[in-house]
Amino acid sequence: MQITADFDGGAIEVLHGADPRAVELGLRGDTGADVRQWFCVRFDDVAGQPLVVSLTNAAEATYAEAFDGYRVCASYEGERWFRVPTRFDGSVLCFEHTPAAASVTYAYFAPYPWQRHLGLVEAACAAPGVALHVPGLSALGRPMHVLVVDAPEAALHEARAASRAAPRRVWLIARQHPGETMGEWLAEGLLARLLDATDPVAVAARRRAVFHVVPNMNPDGGVLGNQRTNALGADLNRAWLAPSADASPEVLCVRAAMEDSGVDLFLDVHGDERNPWCFLAGCEGNPGYSERLRFLENLFEQTLLAASRDFQDEYGYPRDEPGGGDLRTAGNWVGERFGCLSFTLEMPFKDNANDPDPRLGWSPTRSMELGASLLEAILVCLDWLDGEPPGS
Ligand SMILES: [Zn+2]
Repeated sequence: MQITADFDGGAIEVLHGADPRAVELGLRGDTGADVRQWFCVRFDDVAGQPLVVSLTNAAEATYAEAFDGYRVCASYEGERWFRVPTRFDGSVLCFEHTPAAASVTYAYFAPYPWQRHLGLVEAACAAPGVALHVPGLSALGRPMHVLVVDAPEAALHEARAASRAAPRRVWLIARQHPGETMGEWLAEGLLARLLDATDPVAVAARRRAVFHVVPNMNPDGGVLGNQRTNALGADLNRAWLAPSADASPEVLCVRAAMEDSGVDLFLDVHGDERNPWCFLAGCEGNPGYSERLRFLENLFEQTLLAASRDFQDEYGYPRDEPGGGDLRTAGNWVGERFGCLSFTLEMPFKDNANDPDPRLGWSPTRSMELGASLLEAILVCLDWLDGEPPGS
């Protein structure tokens, strides 16, 4: 038996790796930060071997209590992920599993490797109307990919130019917190539908808006196997008010690209360690919050409730007090800066408690489905972005 985390997104400390029935592992901290939660570890030469695996420092995790009701993700080939029964006694996270193949990977959630990210970008750029914009580099020099999805029809561009009718600008970013890989799975699902020329909702949305999609806001953190920070230890979702080239170049360059394009509708996609639901957080705590934005938020949420199997609006974060919004976060900063409809979207690490899946838990497939259903809510809101709410 061999145990390793020496690969893209891998993260673990092997404490005792000789006895398959008493494997002891430790959660590793993010680079440069006092954060630990993500793990991803590969076992080789273990077919038919009953494994008993303990994460002995689980109580020291950043969201330790979130391990209550959590089940470890497993895959034999890195494509299909399933859950294994897991116990957390408040101190140690433990699971028993007998692999059906020679190699198995266990992870906090289904990883989204950099190679898959590159494939996603390449495939999107091969579609008509899609361009790749790289506004800058990550701290370690990886390209920040912004996929710009415009209408595929050249005639439409000419008509827009002639009438000076500017299209709406929709931005979606994911994985500021790199361990929240469900965000990039969601972006993949959204892009797949958006680029489907036979989907009437996608066709209508692309005629009226240009989409700017950043599937991975934190490429270094993802490759390094971090849960929340970039290579320099920065939490990018606390960097939007004052990003810097020294600490948060990823936010600095994407924020500048937003200033260049303008923003009418913004979504920042995350995963939540504790809450077993999908939910939105809006801008009610922003100084510039208004009746118009309240109307738009409600319209988006009601449309998404109808379009998505998984979205709900009963459970979520406590609402901010007026003026109490944290403008260091992307959702609040973009909403305030551009006076636009702006949300943080959360998905669970565990499962959707309203509609649980005993075998898979919350999964890449469910994330992609939610991404696809966002298009209905976006399309409905495009008509209302400028106007005053009815009855005002
Ligand atoms: Zn997050």
